[in-house]
Amino acid sequence: MKIEEVQSTTKKQRIATHTHIKGLGLDANGRAIPMGAGFVGQLGAREAAGLVVDIIRLKKMAGRAVLLAGPPSTGKTALALGVSQELGSKVYSSEVKKTEVLMENFRRAIGLRIKESKEVYEGEASREPVTELSPEETESITGGYGKSISHVIIGLKTVKGTKQLKLDPTIYDALIKEKVAVGDVIYIEANSGAVKRVGRSDAFATEFDLEAEEYVPLPKGEVHKKKEIVQDVTLHDLDAANAQPQGGQDILSLMGQMMKPRKTEITDKLRQEINKVVNKYIEDGVAELVPGVLFIDEVHMLDMECFSYLNRAVESSLSPIVIFATNRGVCYVRGTDMISPHGIPVDLLDRLMIIRTETYGPTEMIQILAIRAQVEELAIDEESLAYLGEIGQQASLRHAIQLLSPAYIVARTNGRDKICKADLEEINSLYLDAKSSARLLQEQEKGYIS
Ligand code: ATP
Repeated sequence: MKIEEVQSTTKKQRIATHTHIKGLGLDANGRAIPMGAGFVGQLGAREAAGLVVDIIRLKKMAGRAVLLAGPPSTGKTALALGVSQELGSKVYSSEVKKTEVLMENFRRAIGLRIKESKEVYEGEASREPVTELSPEETESITGGYGKSISHVIIGLKTVKGTKQLKLDPTIYDALIKEKVAVGDVIYIEANSGAVKRVGRSDAFATEFDLEAEEYVPLPKGEVHKKKEIVQDVTLHDLDAANAQPQGGQDILSLMGQMMKPRKTEITDKLRQEINKVVNKYIEDGVAELVPGVLFIDEVHMLDMECFSYLNRAVESSLSPIVIFATNRGVCYVRGTDMISPHGIPVDLLDRLMIIRTETYGPTEMIQILAIRAQVEELAIDEESLAYLGEIGQQASLRHAIQLLSPAYIVARTNGRDKICKADLEEINSLYLDAKSSARLLQEQEKGYIS
């Protein structure tokens, strides 16, 4: 399923570096395949993530969340993405701001699939010769339809002959009452499957701005059949739609407003109201919950207000799958003098299933770099890959990955279409990785404003 959402550019970039990740790469027994689904190594973490997927599928994840803990660029984001791919859901990431943003992202990450049964009239338009039509012959009508905003208007041109139409008894009655003749164009106004009015074209056409000839012929088929209409929305869509002053009651009017700009604030009260309605839909089987994965990176940046919100939110039945990530060890909980593992208060830590990621050895790094080069369609020789692996070991995997495309540009400038070691050396001397930049700052401390 897809829940469309406007993505920020930072999020796009975040995803773009992971295009090679297609899942967790586990076998049928949940064991990590050394190189599978774009993943290399990190076997333990991948298997642990696979178990989380199983728990989510068994719907046993309520009240809990996942924490990916490990050094920078050890694949934490890649793992969160892998989990969401295994679940067939989308990954949403939350830039760390205040609880309002968190709340909005929580609600964006919860999808709802709403099923509505609508009666759809289908039939074949026909231009058969016109003759008198007796009430018994009203069965032989073929039709087409025109559409007004929420009502289905069906234009029927009455003909004699084939018995391909089974019409609702209320329509027969109305047709008989109207003394319909073969060749008349009849309009049926139906709303959510219920027939509201049946009448001749002259009475209807002007009102609905439909020319008598304007009806659209429909493909041949059953005339009066039920059709499941499935709509995917997120809780946030519902919040935003209902924040409109003229917000309606039923799903259709909710949907109709979604495209309009937001005018009113989304309040807590409104969210609670929406929750009530949504829970009712779920109980009645009208809607099905489709939780997404909410990925919150750098969890140590959150403060107590956020943590207490998260504690409650994770408990809720309307919660997405939350995956936190951190590369911090024991540190202060932001804004307090409390020291805690990963800067997360213990009560939240208690709810977390912690998965560790480990730094990569040279072979694994080279394999990941080779995959990236292939995905980005950049040709590179063995020697350069090995050299890039060394750079990765000294700096970080991400830094090494980021050198690929500028090195390719250098290669092209030098008239080659394959990256060689000299290109990498040139680029590496131009850009500082985070570690060397920090080292340099320390060495040249006096030269900088502190
Ligand atoms: P940070 O703590 O800095 O946010 P991170 O742990 O989230 O880092 P990622 O962004 O997931 O690290 O990894 C860096 C890059 O390396 C990404 O392009 C990612 O797809 C790739 N990568 C990391 N681990 C693996 C792996 N085991 N197999 C394949 N690609 C990987």
